[in-house]
Amino acid sequence: MAFAGNCTVASSTIIQDGHIIVASILPIVGFASKVGGEKINVFEMIPPGASPHTYEPTPGQLEKVSKAEMYLAVGSGIEFEIVWLDKIIAINDDMVLVDCSKGIGLIDISQNPETKNGDNNSKAGSQEISGGLEDNHEGIGKDPHIWLSPKNAAVMVENIYLGLSAMDPDNEDYFYDNKVDFLDELEMLDRKIIEILLEKTQRKILVFHPSWAYFARDYGLEQIVVEEDGKEPSPRGMASLIDQAKESGIKVVFASPEFSQKSAEVIAGEIGGKVVLISPLARDYVKNLINIAEAFEKSMD
Ligand code: ZN
Repeated sequence: MAFAGNCTVASSTIIQDGHIIVASILPIVGFASKVGGEKINVFEMIPPGASPHTYEPTPGQLEKVSKAEMYLAVGSGIEFEIVWLDKIIAINDDMVLVDCSKGIGLIDISQNPETKNGDNNSKAGSQEISGGLEDNHEGIGKDPHIWLSPKNAAVMVENIYLGLSAMDPDNEDYFYDNKVDFLDELEMLDRKIIEILLEKTQRKILVFHPSWAYFARDYGLEQIVVEEDGKEPSPRGMASLIDQAKESGIKVVFASPEFSQKSAEVIAGEIGGKVVLISPLARDYVKNLINIAEAFEKSMD
């Protein structure tokens, strides 16, 4: 089994007198660190390797929440937040909640989105704006994996910047400069991914968990999903996936360290291919997405 990407976790040093901030997922911890720099200490709720669909916070984490000034929620309806966010907010009345998904249009899960025309220029902002924390419960049926599009990430970074500036107006200029630098990095990342995937005519990726709809939309890929309603596929589903993979010449099944790799291994065996692990939840967002784009590129030969 190959591992595409780098799963090292930067050991964060605690900053004396830094604002204490808690975020649901590691990519948001990474975004907040970029913007907040030396003014904040930011901690994740869902640790490396855990699934945002099933994770339960520890008493130590809830203790941290009780001291936090701000909570950064994904806001797009990840199961962890549907189950835990109300309880987390109830722990600390003084904590400000930032909905990082504000302004991002959510994709319907039922659509199983396919970008058939390969439109690399489609703008996230042109989609209907829906979702967000206010209609969390309607959010079921919407794809929560918003952060895996660099264009969406830029919106999330903007929301984090606004939250930090409201919390600590004295440092607004500092946050602003950091934000501008990181938005530049995200723009470079976007161009780099387009460049990596440019010459591919076969643009299908076979993935275990459906994390990649926003990425696929932005870069003109088609995500074929192994899971059925969050579970291992039925024998019939497996057979159909194997047929599809063979027809398209797919030789790689992408799975994640956070999820079971069992059915991915079975499919890989049947198509004479292999399983490659990619993580949708790495803290070093830019590096991780470049590695993943390169792994997708290699798989589409
Ligand atoms: Zn997921």
